[in-house]
Amino acid sequence: MTGFCKKGYCFSGQGEIKFSEECGVFGGISYKYPVAPFIQQGLFMLQHRGQESAGICVGEKNPFIYKNKGLVMEVLSDRVVGKIRGRIGISHVRYSTQGGSDTTHAQPYVVTYLGEKVAVAHNGNVKAAVEMRKNLEKEGEVFITTADTEMILKKIIRELCKAPSKWTFEEVGQVLTENFTGGAWSILFLVPGKIFAFRDPMGYRPLSMCESKDGVFVSSEDTSFQMLENKSVYHIHPGEGVEISRDGFELKRFAAEMSSKKCVFEHIYFARPDSNVFGRNVYSSRVELGRKCALENPVNADIVIPVMDSGFAPALGFSQQSGIPLQMGLMRNRWVGRTFILPEQQMRSTGVRRKLTPIKEVLNDKRVVVIDDSIVRGTTSREIVRLLKESGAKEVHFRSASPKILNTCQWGVDIPTKKELIANKYEDICGIRDFIEADSLAYLSIEGLKEIFQDGWCYSCLLGDCENPENENSCKCSKLYESVC
Ligand code: SF4
Repeated sequence: MTGFCKKGYCFSGQGEIKFSEECGVFGGISYKYPVAPFIQQGLFMLQHRGQESAGICVGEKNPFIYKNKGLVMEVLSDRVVGKIRGRIGISHVRYSTQGGSDTTHAQPYVVTYLGEKVAVAHNGNVKAAVEMRKNLEKEGEVFITTADTEMILKKIIRELCKAPSKWTFEEVGQVLTENFTGGAWSILFLVPGKIFAFRDPMGYRPLSMCESKDGVFVSSEDTSFQMLENKSVYHIHPGEGVEISRDGFELKRFAAEMSSKKCVFEHIYFARPDSNVFGRNVYSSRVELGRKCALENPVNADIVIPVMDSGFAPALGFSQQSGIPLQMGLMRNRWVGRTFILPEQQMRSTGVRRKLTPIKEVLNDKRVVVIDDSIVRGTTSREIVRLLKESGAKEVHFRSASPKILNTCQWGVDIPTKKELIANKYEDICGIRDFIEADSLAYLSIEGLKEIFQDGWCYSCLLGDCENPENENSCKCSKLYESVC
C-alpha cells in the first residue's frame, strides 16, 4: 500500500497512506465492567481509518472526555483507560478531511446543552458544507473548528431549540434527514444515558452493531467486534440507526433508504481485509479484483509480487487466475513508524525505500508482475519499478487492481487534487506507463469493477467528468478509460 498524506509521506499502522482516510467511530455500553477497555480494543481495530488523533468520551451525566493527537494505543494507553470508569461511551479515530490537523479537531466533540453534556463522533462529509457553514455564521453561529462534525452538532442544537426540543433518537434523526441527506455520515451521539448511532440514507460509509454477553457496541467496521464472545453482528442499513441504553438496544429506521451509494474504495483500499463491509468480505473482494485484473490483462511473466499490505489479496487473485506463482519480492518494513513524515516530493522516493525492501534472490532475472491496489500520483509506483529493476528484475509489469482514479471525492475521502492524479496528467495510458518506467501497465477496467460490485455503489472518483453525476462539465473522455499499455 503506497501513497501520501497531505503533509508528505506518512507511514502508519496498516501501511503508507494513499488517501487521507475518512475516520472511524466506535461506541457502546458494557453490562458489567467499565466500557473504556472495550472501546480501546474496538477503536484499535479501526486504527487504519485514521492515525492523526484518537479520542474517547465516557459517562452518563458528566462524561469524561480524553483526546489527543497520536495512535490509539498512545492516546488511550492502559494507564489512561484504567482510570476511566463509566459503562457507556463513544470514540473516534481521525485523519483530517474537513478541518485542520491540530488537537482542536480531535473527536468526540462535547457541548453543554440546557445543562446536559452531549458528545458526537462522525465519519464522513457533509454535502454543501461550505454554504451551510456560511449560512449558520450569518445567523450568528460561531465555530471553534473547521470540521463538518461541529457544524452538524450546532445545526442540530439550533433545530432542537424549537419545541419539543429533546434529544430523542427520532428528533435527531429528523434533523439529520432534513438537513444532511446526500452527505456521508456514520455518526454517534452520546446523550445522557444513551447512544444514538445513525447511518446516512445513501449509505456511503459502513456502520455495524454487535450484541454480546459483555454489552452492545457499534463500529465503523465489524472487525472491531472480534474481541467479544457470544455475539451477533448486524450491519446497519442506510437510513437506519440504533438507540443503545442500559435497557438494551432498539434498531430504528429514521429515513427512507435512498438509491444506495456504498463507497467502493472501502473494498479496494480502506477497510481491513478481515472486515465485512456492505455485506461482503473485504479480503474476498480484493482477491476477486486481482482475478478479474488477470483475466483482463494477461501477461507473460515468471512471478507475481504484491505491494504489501493491501496489494496482497489482489496479487493472490492475480496469481490464482493466471497460474503465475506468487512470491514475496518486496518485504514491508513494519517498524518505520508513523512519525516518519517526509515533507517534500523529492524525498518520497527515500520513503519508499525505507518502507519496502526488495528480496534480490526472488527477483533476480525474473519477469515480474507487481500488483498494487491502485495508483494515485504514480510517483510511488515509479519508485517501486526502479527498485525492482535495480534488484535484478528483467521485466516489470505493473497492474492496478482498481481502475484509474480520475476525480476527487466529496464524501470525506481526501483524494489529491485532479491535477495531481497521474491518470489526468497523461492523454493516454502509455504516457503513464512511461512515467512509472514499467514494461507494461494495466488497470482493472471500470466495467470489470462494476461486474464484481454491480449496482448500488459509488464509483464517482473512478469516472471522468462527462460520466460523473457530480460534475456537469463535459470532458474529452475518449482515452480516459484505456486500461492497458
Ligand atoms: S468518490 Fe470514491 S472514495 Fe468517494 S465515496 Fe465514492 S467511491 Fe468512495
